[in-house]
Formats: sequence, structure tokens, C-alpha cells
Amino acid sequence: MIELAAELAGLRQAGLHRQRRLLAGPQGVRPRIDGRERLAFCSNDYLGLAAHPAVIEALRESAARDGVGSGASHLINGHHQAHEALEEALATFLGRERALLFSTGYMANLGVIQALCGRGDQILADRLNHASLLDGAQLSQARLRRYPHADTERLRALLGSSRAEGSLIVTDGVFSMDGDLAPIPALAAIANATGAVLMLDDAHGIGVLGANGRGTLEHAGFHGDEAQAAVPILIGTLGKALGTFGAFVAGSAELINFLIQRARSYIYTTALPPALASASLAALRIAAHEPERRDHLQRLINRFRAGAHTLGLALADSPTPIQPLIAGDVDTALRWSRFLEDNGFLVTAIRPPTVPQGAARLRITFSASHADADIDRLLDTLAKLPNSAPKESQ
Ligand SMILES: *Cc1c(COP(=O)(O)O)cnc(C)c1O
Repeated sequence: MIELAAELAGLRQAGLHRQRRLLAGPQGVRPRIDGRERLAFCSNDYLGLAAHPAVIEALRESAARDGVGSGASHLINGHHQAHEALEEALATFLGRERALLFSTGYMANLGVIQALCGRGDQILADRLNHASLLDGAQLSQARLRRYPHADTERLRALLGSSRAEGSLIVTDGVFSMDGDLAPIPALAAIANATGAVLMLDDAHGIGVLGANGRGTLEHAGFHGDEAQAAVPILIGTLGKALGTFGAFVAGSAELINFLIQRARSYIYTTALPPALASASLAALRIAAHEPERRDHLQRLINRFRAGAHTLGLALADSPTPIQPLIAGDVDTALRWSRFLEDNGFLVTAIRPPTVPQGAARLRITFSASHADADIDRLLDTLAKLPNSAPKESQ
């Protein structure tokens, strides 16, 4: 057992002790945090839907009609027509036969990997994948083999040297702390050539990437049956670009039926409140039918990147609303974050173990609710960042 006091003291000493900020009122680009309004660049509310009036209204109406609690798991009697309507809309939106709702993306990843893999199988995972994919792999008891970030040659070699019964390749679509994209065409080709199955966690791509917001696959030029063949298992969350809460798996009718039978994090938990599904359906409609939100977001990203380039800030290779500024050590990341805070901003410092040692950073994110002037204000302040010269990576 861990010695609590010593462990906490160690975290404090290393600058790794975390504290929660207190949000009052809605999430947005000007949240009231710890009693003060700040201009925020750190939420995942990429399309500005978390407090959209139509989404709020859908939640309110559905709660008045359907109540609050679902009262049971999906397989007892908690599966509501609001859930069913959202699953059908998600499947149609993504061009898949079916979709299955989970309570969170974390639980979707645990449930899917645990249901599909077991002893004798192997899971090949990008080293920068989200923690929930790693935890799902561990839960499944399959052999976990991690390849260096986006290193498809190494992945190919690992698959070549294997005697596993089945192989599942799992990757983030948009890497959550770096904003860069998985090399989907190469991963799909490797999966196809080796008989492995490719699973994509597109938590940060759905709603954001592609002309229609279908995510990383659409961005990479995969559509319809071709997308389904390349990536038979697609995970998305509703808590990011869609601004609500919950998650889903999309795929073949057979896959979804199997998960209903076997995914433990689906079976042994209370179904989401139906009103949340109604709110998510409203958000999905907006995401699908208002491409101008994506266009505006893309212009903000371009504006930021051009400005940061002019300032000589070291940018990552990210075409997404996640734009990290690597500080290196924890102290620098914290100093930057505090400096921004003193100037009226909120940009959280991201520290190990969320990111690798020596890669502490500011994770700057944009939302369609930001205005050009917000980006310019941020850039003006970043220009004065203490020790803003990028450090050698360690
Ligand atoms: C946020 C995130 C998740 C977890 O989704 P939740 O719905 O927040 O539990 C899973 N995978 C990735 C890549 C994420 O960024």
C-alpha cells in the first residue's frame, strides 16, 4: 500500500501535485474560474456547444418528458428511445451500420478492448495513446506492445515478429496532448496486410475534422464502406466537440451486437440519463449542419499558427484545435501558465504522467466560440512569456 502522506509530499516537491479549479456557470471561452472571469484556451468544447441554447433546450424538454435517471442498465430496462434515436443518428452520421452508447469514452475503450481481446492476443498501441486505451489493454490480459509515436515501421516489425492469435492495433485519431494525427492510411495498409484489426479512438476528431465533421477518417479521405473496411472499430466521445457527455462505438451490426453481449463496462452500469442523449442528438445536428463552426475554428487555428510562427514560438505539427507549446520541465510550464493567468487567461499546464517526462507543456486549445481578437490577445501575451525560447528536449 502507498504511504499517503509521503506520496503527496513527493508530488508537491516535484511540482506534480494537482488541484482542481472551481468553475461557476457554463463552460465557455470566458468561464468564471475561482471567482474571476478569464479568457480560456483549455477546454475540449471545440465547437462551442457545451452551453448552446438548442442543446440546453433539448436537455430541458427531454428531462421534463422522460425524467432524469434512466433507472437501470441498458440490458435491464434502462434503454430508452432517446438512446436509440441517438445511436441511429450517430450510425447514419458516420456511415456505419450501428452505434452503441457508453457512459464515457474511458468506459467505451475499456469495454471494447476487454470484450474483443484476451490471453493469446496482442494489442499494438501507439506510445502516446490515451490512458483509457492502455487501461483497456491491461484489463483484457492480452499482450500489450507499444510502438514509438506514429512509428509505422516499428509497428510493422512488431507484427512480423509475433505468434499471437489475433492482433488489435489501437490508436488515437488526434493525439490528445499533441494535436497531431495518426498516420491512418499507413496503419490501415499494415492492418490489411497482416490481418490485424484497426481500432480508432477519435475523441478529438469527431465533429472537428473533415468537411462534414466525421473526424480523422474523413480528413484522411476515407468515406463510407472504405472507412468501415479500414477501421472496423471507431470510438468517439460526446463530451468534447459535441459539448455534452457520453461516448459511443460505431461499426458493423455484428460488432455492436457482440459488444452488447460482452462489454462489461456497457453491461454492468446504469444507462445515461435519456435527456443527455436528447441533448447529444441536438448537438450532433448542429455539428453536422453548421460547417461554418468548423471553418471558423480552422481560421482561428491558422491565425494562431501564423502569429506564433512570427513570434518564433516552437509549434507542434498539429492541424487541429490542440496546439501545444512545449515547455520541457515542469517549472517552466507552471511559470508560463501562471504568467498567462496573471494576464487574465486560463491555459492549463500539462505535466507528467499525462505527458512524457521532459515534455511538460501548455496545451492551448481553440473553440469556435473564440473570436479573432481573442487569438490576437493570446499571441500578444505569449510574446512576453518568460524564457519563451524553446528548450532542448531531454
Ligand atoms: C478524452 C478522451 C477519452 C475519454 O473520453 P471521456 O468521454 O472523456 O471519458 C478517450 N480517448 C481519448 C483519446 C480522449 O482524448
